[in-house]
Amino acid sequence: MQELNTKKRGKGMGQENNELLLTHIGPIKEMIQTCIQCGTCTASCPNTKFMDMTPRHMWRLLLTDHADVIFSSKSFIMCSSCYYCTLRCPRGLELTAAMSLLKQAALKLKLKRFRRSSLFYEAFLDSVKKHGRVKEMEFMTHYFMSMKNPLLPLGYAALGTRLLAKGKIRPDFSFGGKGKLTALFEKTAQLEG
Ligand code: SF4
Ligand code: SF4
Repeated sequence: MQELNTKKRGKGMGQENNELLLTHIGPIKEMIQTCIQCGTCTASCPNTKFMDMTPRHMWRLLLTDHADVIFSSKSFIMCSSCYYCTLRCPRGLELTAAMSLLKQAALKLKLKRFRRSSLFYEAFLDSVKKHGRVKEMEFMTHYFMSMKNPLLPLGYAALGTRLLAKGKIRPDFSFGGKGKLTALFEKTAQLEG
């Protein structure tokens, strides 16, 4: 694999992380090797308004060995895995899977700027692992505690109140669980190496 262009190195990306990045990015680059830069993925994506870099731009950076720049953006974190881009790509590329691999790489690289997203996903998956579904109160409590910021819940108070009022979430504080999906998660981790 070629060297990364360090002139545009992402914020907080040290030499050690750069080497790790090269290891993680290789398989993703392979997946999008035949991209023709048509932009259909960008035009299909419902979340581009939340992204500071379009999906097409991301693939271009990957193909030109500027993957580190992608990690100075949070665009791939905004992917909601809707699969529109995957369905519409004229080259049949597995773009949603590529987005997931970028998220996994950000987790494994332990980049500070993705800490919040990482802890959010961890709390979400922990709840799914225990109950086979998300228990909202437990999930958010776990997330708030991991963030160690006592003021953080205030930012969610209005949303939480609205969701409770509409019956979208239940005030269930019976925490704990039997780990219904633990075996499934362990098997997946084993397969992913
Ligand atoms: S839709 Fe496919 S071919 Fe077109 S820019 Fe996106 S990844 Fe490339
Ligand atoms: S899978 Fe992700 S990147 Fe693709 S269209 Fe959906 S939100 Fe956008």
